[in-house]
Amino acid sequence: MALYKLAIIGRPNVGKSSLFNRICKKNISIVHEMEGVTRDRIYAKAYFENLPFTIIDTAGIDFDTKFSIEDEMILQSQVAIEEADGIIFVVDVKTGFTNLDREIAKIILKSNKKVVVAINKVDVKDFIEKTFEFQSLGIKEFVFISASQNYQIDSLLENFFKNISLSEFTEEKNVYAKVSLIGRTNVGKSTLLNALLNNNRAVVSKEAATTRDSIDCDITIDDKTYTFIDTAGIRRKNKEVDVLEKFSHSQTIKSIQRSDVSLLVLDAFEFMTFHDKKILNTILQYAKGLIIVVNKWDQIKNVRQEHIKKAINEMFANYPVVIISALEKLNITKIFPLIDKVFENRTKAIKTNQLNKFIIDCMHKNPPPLISGKKLKVYYITQIKALYPKFLFFINSELLLTNSYKKYITNRFLKTFDFTGSRIIFDFKQKIQKK
Ligand code: GDP
Repeated sequence: MALYKLAIIGRPNVGKSSLFNRICKKNISIVHEMEGVTRDRIYAKAYFENLPFTIIDTAGIDFDTKFSIEDEMILQSQVAIEEADGIIFVVDVKTGFTNLDREIAKIILKSNKKVVVAINKVDVKDFIEKTFEFQSLGIKEFVFISASQNYQIDSLLENFFKNISLSEFTEEKNVYAKVSLIGRTNVGKSTLLNALLNNNRAVVSKEAATTRDSIDCDITIDDKTYTFIDTAGIRRKNKEVDVLEKFSHSQTIKSIQRSDVSLLVLDAFEFMTFHDKKILNTILQYAKGLIIVVNKWDQIKNVRQEHIKKAINEMFANYPVVIISALEKLNITKIFPLIDKVFENRTKAIKTNQLNKFIIDCMHKNPPPLISGKKLKVYYITQIKALYPKFLFFINSELLLTNSYKKYITNRFLKTFDFTGSRIIFDFKQKIQKK
């Protein structure tokens, strides 16, 4: 059974995102209502008495649709209520009771799901009189809170979970690949994430996991679930620029470490800067799968995509380059198949007899040079079980292996076996001679 799902519902500006952050113990707001940002729901893992549950925030409303904010809100609430096992309905004592509150309450009551009303912003003066208005909602359980002041959040949860046994709900996860979006500020990571989330075929997570300092987001496409790592870090900056600057480096490394495949996002206009190369090398240092995403192609005129690809591959061969416009959704659908390919390449195993056949052919076509009358011999190659493809070559003498011959073997290897997107390690070891 999946984790218990608790949805936070309420009209805009009642404090849902602040409450969401309090419950998942974050002090940075990851939620913002910004024009052009389309995101439906955020899922995070939170704890009550050390037991995990999933918390769903519905704060992201798409202002761009044909719906009014009210209609959109109601739709979002309906979906979240449908998905959730229980609901915290947030109302705002400062503005008082509204018609939209009543509409939402009706939907909640119809669902017959467990609901507690969180009367927020009780830090304001004279709130007591206004709380009576909310009794007409028809929901019996109320807790007074102040999300911004962190007041009574624990009693809200205690109240909510008093008759629920969270230990009966466990995690069930079948993640295919963990993916991180990496790149400098403003290259378009959050725009790309939103484009991926809004892909028609994508089912955005019913089951997202979160660690203490990052929020992951699951996207399921055709039965494959991709976890996008630390999506909060990508969104966070929209509200908290200073925080981003402080977080970004260590957060980038953490995201790379936790992922299988990193998408390095570049701004086509700036091409590949010194900083981009540094980030790229960090991804390779951790031996993660790499896809180079050149964004903002809509701004480029008179340059052919092939030229950009070629220029990048001259610097970094063997890594796929995809040219997109996150804004105009150009080539977005190419990204998932590439992730699949890179992920599969990273975990691919080549049989020893294929490897040995490879080296025989390789040396036959271009024999190694004679050095002091002796020639390099490769006795045996095998793939080592590692987190990335690693091959061990047993040779007669390291002194007989020239750099150019090593390069020849490597290039041929990459042409014979497809390891696109994955760093591979070759380790040449001198075979210990029997006395
Ligand atoms: P992040 O810092 O990497 O998350 O970057 P954002 O996604 O916030 O994007 C930074 C700016 O670039 C915003 O003004 C976006 O609208 C813009 N942007 C993102 N993708 C594209 C694109 O494909 N084309 C164009 N022209 N602008 C884009």
